[in-house]
Amino acid sequence: MSEVSASSACDAAAPLYPPGARVGVLLPLPLGGLYDYRVPRTGPAVAEGQPVEVPLGKRREIGVVWGAGEGAVAENKVRDILRVLPAEPLPRVTRRFVDWVAAYTLSPPGAVLKMAISVPQALEEPRPLTVYGLPDPENPPDLAALGVKETRARRAVLNVAADLPPLPAGELAREAGVSDGVVKGLAQAGVLVPSLVHPQLDPPRPDPDHPGPTLSAGQEEIAEDLRSRVRGHAFSVALLEGVTGSGKTEVYFEAVAEALRRGRQVLVLVPEISLTSQWLSRFRRRFGVPPLEWHSELTQARRRDVWRAVANGRAAVVVGARSALFLPFRDLGLVVVDEEHEQAFKQEDGVSYHARDMAVVRGQLGSVPVVLASATPSLETVLNAESGRYDKLHLPERHGGSLLPEVDVVDMRRMPPEKGDWGRSWLAPPVVEAVTETLERGEQVLLFLNRRGYAPLTLCRTCGFRIQCPNCTAWLVEHRLVRRLVCHHCGHSEPTPRQCPQCGDEDSLAACGPGVERLAEEVVGRWPETRSVVVASDTLGGPLAAAALMERIAAHEVDLLIGTQVLAKGLHFPELTLVAVVDSDLGLSGGDLRAAERTYQLLTQVAGRAGRAAKQGRVMLQTYQPEHPVIQAMVTGETAQFLEAEAEGRRATSMPPYGRLAALIVSGEDEAAVDATCARLSRAAPREANVEVLGPAPAPLAMLRGRHRRRFLLKAPRGVRVQPVVAAWLGRVTVPHSVRVQVDVDPYSFL
Ligand code: ADP
Ligand code: ZN
Repeated sequence: MSEVSASSACDAAAPLYPPGARVGVLLPLPLGGLYDYRVPRTGPAVAEGQPVEVPLGKRREIGVVWGAGEGAVAENKVRDILRVLPAEPLPRVTRRFVDWVAAYTLSPPGAVLKMAISVPQALEEPRPLTVYGLPDPENPPDLAALGVKETRARRAVLNVAADLPPLPAGELAREAGVSDGVVKGLAQAGVLVPSLVHPQLDPPRPDPDHPGPTLSAGQEEIAEDLRSRVRGHAFSVALLEGVTGSGKTEVYFEAVAEALRRGRQVLVLVPEISLTSQWLSRFRRRFGVPPLEWHSELTQARRRDVWRAVANGRAAVVVGARSALFLPFRDLGLVVVDEEHEQAFKQEDGVSYHARDMAVVRGQLGSVPVVLASATPSLETVLNAESGRYDKLHLPERHGGSLLPEVDVVDMRRMPPEKGDWGRSWLAPPVVEAVTETLERGEQVLLFLNRRGYAPLTLCRTCGFRIQCPNCTAWLVEHRLVRRLVCHHCGHSEPTPRQCPQCGDEDSLAACGPGVERLAEEVVGRWPETRSVVVASDTLGGPLAAAALMERIAAHEVDLLIGTQVLAKGLHFPELTLVAVVDSDLGLSGGDLRAAERTYQLLTQVAGRAGRAAKQGRVMLQTYQPEHPVIQAMVTGETAQFLEAEAEGRRATSMPPYGRLAALIVSGEDEAAVDATCARLSRAAPREANVEVLGPAPAPLAMLRGRHRRRFLLKAPRGVRVQPVVAAWLGRVTVPHSVRVQVDVDPYSFL
């Protein structure tokens, strides 16, 4: 990521465009750029940032006045703005952010604007709601005088109406326990009177002075540093590093409190919103009320209300997935990126951006302090801290003296699992023994295996056929609970066949390798009395079900958890004392640039679930590569040494964060067209001396969702801005409609 140039704190009054003026309107369309329109001659002036409705061909589209018109279109072709929407102009900082992200990611600005106004209904006047109440709540109406017979149902409605503010008919009926008809009848008779209200979300304000925990001296020092950043209201980035359980969350809550005291808004980005139930209850404990949530699972109506509350400043704290970055904060005073190293912050489809990096940009454009929290910061962030661009704040130990768990390596070559009645086993004898002991002590166990389903591969023992996805270069994963084979890339699923699809042999299909469902078979076989549960993203259900499960686990209603990475992060189960990682090497193969770093981060996170309270925790890593630097670093706890070696490797090969990468993914259903486009891109590839172009090569996922895929990788020294190079490259090549070229600046996935 490169520096953001000029930054200005305040949102100077937006320029006004008088009637008759030409303006450039940005439309939130995938390929959208600026189009010229005219401010109607017979209306008021229009401010920059104003949402408007404009004609586009025969359609009407919503867009945002972005600046003065370009003048490229002939005067008589310029059409009038149809309607000024009843919404505030988009803040200047939001508009600059949209432009910045578009330029950095080489995306059309319209595609980025679409993320900022993702709920167009929020730009319309809230529909007024008819509510019913008593004309005079102090004096009960005289039913007889109004010619209405008193019934129990009517009496119930009147009692509720006397106690509550006016409500919509349906709600009033529900409160009174009667049908809607009773309320409507009372309204017709004039007993209840209707009025119109404009509903608006008015969330309760989190209370910064709600009593929180007493911080330790070390925690307090860092909290005060963060508070003073918030008071200063200037751009800065603080890396808040500390082992799991050191109190990072409690400490950054103090910065949140300070922003609240100053009446400023706060954005907290989290990698996976479905896993935040514990975080949300801690927030509620610290501030008395929950924050507002922003993510894709909210209803459209809720998103509309939250968007508006952010825009009008009523939303004080928003916790959200990466898309929350594009909300139109009116007065942002702090951005926190929790678990900043998480890959989930990188969006791959559509506009390809990294929310952590863009959070830093947002901070800089708005003069807002940014806090990046992690127990295992990314190499990118570590380098920025070492070079002094970011400040490093360190919480060295777990809160309350609880110790970090002991880590043991279990060499699978020397201690292979023993077969049992249930079929194949995956747990080595020392792990089996440790699990038994832990369960006997009445403590909880986590068996970690980062693989959903029953088995990652199904193979015919007769002919050797392997069942593959029809749309992707990938094996289908068996999910035995639902009796289907599923593609984890495109979602294709089919019933598990009884016969081999190739040779037709009966009962010849064999499952290869374990997923969590298969591991569960072994658990039931070995510890039949134990209460166990499989926790994976596909078994979790919605956020409510997930929260309920986390509560059951915390309440020790379950003894043994079999989980994927959804259980690795941020969760706090005091009775959990043993974590066994079934396949520690799983993430290490595959030639991904960050494979070692990511595996280390994941293992550290998982290990951090053990022994978080009074009892000492233990971690066992099953591995075929006990000498691997990642495994060694886990055992010795020498994080710095590991990171140094990892950094050295990247420096030697000029890979990020020491070099820059941009990927082009060329895809299409017609393989010949894809290859022809690649050939053209190859011929037009940049020839700059310091820029290297690798490819085209078939992507590891050479086929995805029925599209053939090829990749180019452009590599440049850190000081080079790759965007102009890539833009010029693409400008030299015409791409047919059937082929898509996606640009991924700073790629994190190489599939
Ligand atoms: P991290 O975010 O670094 O993993 P947390 O903030 O989640 O750490 O803290 C770990 C646990 O310790 C939490 O249950 C938290 O409430 C508790 N804790 C941290 N600091 C304190 C403190 N000063 N007083 C009381 N409890 C604390
Ligand atoms: Zn597929």
